[in-house]
Amino acid sequence: MMMPSLFISHGAPDLVLHDLPARRFLSGYGAELPAPSAICVISAHYAGAQPLVTTGPAPRTVHDFGGFDPALYTLRYPAPGAPALAARLIAACADAGLQVFADAQGGFDHGVWCPLLLMYPAAAVPVVALSVCPRRDAAWHFALGRALAPLRAEGVLVIGSGALTHNLYEVRPPAGFDEAPAWVDAFADWVGERLAAQDEAALLDYRTQAPHAADNHPSSEHLLPFHVALGAAGPGWCATRLHRSVTYRALRMDAFRFDS
Ligand code: ZN
Repeated sequence: MMMPSLFISHGAPDLVLHDLPARRFLSGYGAELPAPSAICVISAHYAGAQPLVTTGPAPRTVHDFGGFDPALYTLRYPAPGAPALAARLIAACADAGLQVFADAQGGFDHGVWCPLLLMYPAAAVPVVALSVCPRRDAAWHFALGRALAPLRAEGVLVIGSGALTHNLYEVRPPAGFDEAPAWVDAFADWVGERLAAQDEAALLDYRTQAPHAADNHPSSEHLLPFHVALGAAGPGWCATRLHRSVTYRALRMDAFRFDS
């Protein structure tokens, strides 16, 4: 079973508590996919100078945020880890010339567990988390994703978990918003158009070519999971927009599916 790869926008940690369009989308989408043998989530919140993958048999749930509803801190995502998948991932990346390091103590940050709690609430599918390396560019993350592409044939669901737009200086409460500012939509629409045109080169060069790229991504870590997911689609990819909404005014919550 060849699984797709996905890019999802995880929003703020309290997405799991609010009845928002993005929450409704994620809550229903896991059941629409073939059952994965395992899940590999590339999280914007798992970042290092070198790429890391969780290798523990039971990674802990990490509440890597402050100032949110106390109910969030009681939530756990007790999915098993996938040490064998982590080992295959490290080997596949090594074959592509990319060194990924084992992180035996690594847990599931909210970029991993919040969307999975909605998509796969039973927490029965084994999960590994893979970090981004914000010092590396989009092309490097695309290559990292390309190294993961063969895992999809083994039923592994590769999910890039970030945000299509992510300027935390421009977020405003409440969580529910019907419209984003024009400079946010301009960037998000550009990504959608370049995906429809299968314009891989432009998407990798987004910081130069996309409108308001630096305004929407003052730092790159929330878009790099997109490039990993795109790379994981393999050659001849096509993209499908699964969802479009906005939360906290400046966070576009779009999701895309990539197939080859
Ligand atoms: Zn985030």
